[in-house]
This record gives sequence, structure tokens and C-alpha cells, in this order.
Amino acid sequence: MTTKPSSCADPVDTQALSVDDARARILDQIAPVSGYEKLAIRSALGRILDETIVSPVDVPAHRNSAMDGFAIRGSEIPPAGEEAEFRCVGAALAGHPFDGEIGSGECIQIMTGAPVPEGLDTVIMQEQAHYDGERIRITGKHRPGQNVREAGEDLARGGVVFSPGRKLTPADLGVIASLGIGELRVRRKPVVAFFSTGDELRSIGEPLGEGEIYDSNRYTLHGMLTDLGVDTLDMGVIADNPDDMREAFRTAADNADVVITSGGVSVGEADYIKPVLEELGEITFWKIRMKPGRPLTFGKLGNATFIGLPGNPVAVMVAFYQFALPALRYMMSGERQPPFLLRARATSPIRKRPGRTEFARGRYSISADGDIEVATTGQQGSGILTSMSHGNCFIILPPRQGSVEVGDEVTIQPFSSLR
Ligand code: AMP
Ligand code: MG
Repeated sequence: MTTKPSSCADPVDTQALSVDDARARILDQIAPVSGYEKLAIRSALGRILDETIVSPVDVPAHRNSAMDGFAIRGSEIPPAGEEAEFRCVGAALAGHPFDGEIGSGECIQIMTGAPVPEGLDTVIMQEQAHYDGERIRITGKHRPGQNVREAGEDLARGGVVFSPGRKLTPADLGVIASLGIGELRVRRKPVVAFFSTGDELRSIGEPLGEGEIYDSNRYTLHGMLTDLGVDTLDMGVIADNPDDMREAFRTAADNADVVITSGGVSVGEADYIKPVLEELGEITFWKIRMKPGRPLTFGKLGNATFIGLPGNPVAVMVAFYQFALPALRYMMSGERQPPFLLRARATSPIRKRPGRTEFARGRYSISADGDIEVATTGQQGSGILTSMSHGNCFIILPPRQGSVEVGDEVTIQPFSSLR
């Protein structure tokens, strides 16, 4: 009796791994990259911090006014409904403190960001004061301490501002600049080598022969890897023959931390990824209870981590986002981030078979009532790559779920959380 090669059309295989188990096993087998570089803060955007940032100063450095107006003593605020008059004895501007004496019944004019002098603690907004030369009258309701920003209220000297593993955002660059720090230690970027496999694949610029197609996976991979902020090594298309594969694997493993391939992971006639990897590395070949993206190869090739994605263009993106992206984020940051998921109300029905996780492509939006709604992008074949362009989220349907009716709640994963 011969065994039939498995295909994506087979009924659910109970031996296969769940998506969560496969992801957990991958994360258990990889280690964060070591190595760092020092960069000027402007160049550190999107990079992973490799040091603890401790504030060397108080931010703000001095008590200062949050408004343009007049600084007074809180104890001299008039009772509600009454009026009080002050003599204005000077002015403080941002960068120009007032350093004279201020007696009782006196105030100074103060601008936003200017230091609040010793003894004063309250700022009356300009719009709430009536002034006539040096006589300032205030009425209305005021609270001692209002409109004053305390020294160190944003960051206190000696406090931990950021810890290692953080991906630096535009706000972080500003916070670090506010501490007067100009250079940062960030982790080295992992290098990811990738190539496509398949005799039918042609590169852009080459004419297409009978039965040939342009290689699109290398472009989606380039985009997803660039979004993530790793260094990439695009190795082109490798033909379906064991010698070329061996050579490509060796080159990739020698030059990269991670090797990602697409195609050739089924067990069809021309699927050489598995046998060649068994020969050169330590490989696990998994069937995952998911659609699309069922076959996945994972393992070690020399010191490099190997991830063999399926060939179908949508399956490549789904498997990359569900497995390669958490793995790379973990290598970069040393942190396991759970996927960012939201609940949404389905506005289109979705056909679904229980027993596996399905990743439909959807478009979510906010309804007039403020609810999140989602509809599928239409045809869901694993070759319909435009579904990834037109969609803005995955609709993740878990194994136990059957078909979805209009109005049902479903889980979505916005594409914007995958970059
Ligand atoms: P495979 O896993 O190699 O059997 O490929 C599965 C399907 O994906 C086939 O229809 C391939 O032609 C297609 N495919 C594989 N690699 C690519 C690629 N790089 N770009 C576009 N389609 C591909
Ligand atoms: Mg192939």
C-alpha cells in the first residue's frame, strides 16, 4: 500500500499542531540576538533599546508656569465672589527668570514655561485678570497651586525612564532628548536571508514562458521584514533541485541569523526543502491546524534559525505574521508579545469548518454607534493576494468555531499591529 502525500485539501489531521502550540514551540527554541551598537538618538527610531535609561535630571528642571498670566501666593486668593488687587513688580519669561523680591499683595507677570519664583505657587490666567498699569485685579474661582508644573513631575532625577527591550518611538526620542542624552545603546538588528523556491518562478524583467509566474513572495517578504526593522539579504529565486538548494542554504546560514524560504515545503515531487534540510540541519516539519498556511518547516541550519513558509502568496503572509513575526520580535526585544486582538461584529457571513484556525481577510471599520464592524474582503483563496491589499485585518476564527452569521462577534487582528 502506498501513502498518499498530504495536501491542504485533506480533512482535519488530529496529529497536527494548533497555531498557539506551534508559536510557543518556536519561541521556546530561539534566543534573543546579542550584540549592540551606539547610535545618535535620531538614528535610534524603531530600534530596540539595549540599556536602562535613568533620568540624570528632573524634568521639568524647575517649577514653571503652564499658562500666560500672573503668579501669586495661593494664600492670597480672594474668597469666591470677592475681588483682590495685586501690585505687579516684574515679569518672568521662559528662559528669563524673575529674581527680585516679591512682598505680600504683590505678583509678577509670568509666561508659559517661565520659572515660578520662590514663595509664589499659583498662576492666574491672563484672561481671568484685569490690569491697569501695575495694578492687577482678580476675581473668579481659583485653587492654590493651579497652573503650575512641579519640578520633576514628568520624570524625577534617578528614576528609570526606559528599560532594555523597548522599541523606541518618536515620543521616546523626545523624552530622551529632554534628559540631555544624545547617544543610545541599541541591539544589533538580526539579519534575515530569504529566497523563493520554484521552477515556475521568474523575476521581474524576465519574460514569462508557458506555465511560469512572477515571484511575488520575495516582495511581500521584503516588505514585511523591512516593516519590522531587520536587516535583509534577498537571495532571489532558487530552482527546484537539491544541489542549488544545498548551496543556497549554506550561503544563507553563513550570512544570516534567520533564513526564511517560501514554497517547496509540501511533500510533492519537487519539494526539496524538507530532504535537503534534514541533510544539512535540525528540522521539524509541522502540519498546523490552520488555513491558509498549513505546512511549516522550522529548525536550525548551522547557527541560523530556519523558517520554511508555504508557497501560496496569502499563506506566506499569514504564516509569516503568525510565526516568523513573533519569533523575530522576540529575537529583537527578548520579550514575548501576545498578539493584538480586538472583538468586532461580522457584517458578512463567513463559511468555516470547525477543527482548525482560519485567517480570513477582513476590513474593519467603526459604525455610527461606535462599534467595531468587520466584513470579509470577498474571495478567500490562498492565492488571492489582493485580499491582503484590500483588507486591513485578519478575522481569526478559532478551531471550535463553525460558520459565522451576520451579527456574530469575531476576533480580528489589525494589520497595523503587525509592523
Ligand atoms: P509550493 O508550496 O512550492 O508547492 O507552492 C504552492 C503554490 O504557490 C504554487 O501555486 C506556486 O506556484 C505558488 N508560489 C510558490 N512560490 C511563489 C512565489 N515566490 N511567488 C508567487 N507564487 C508562488
Ligand atoms: Mg514549488
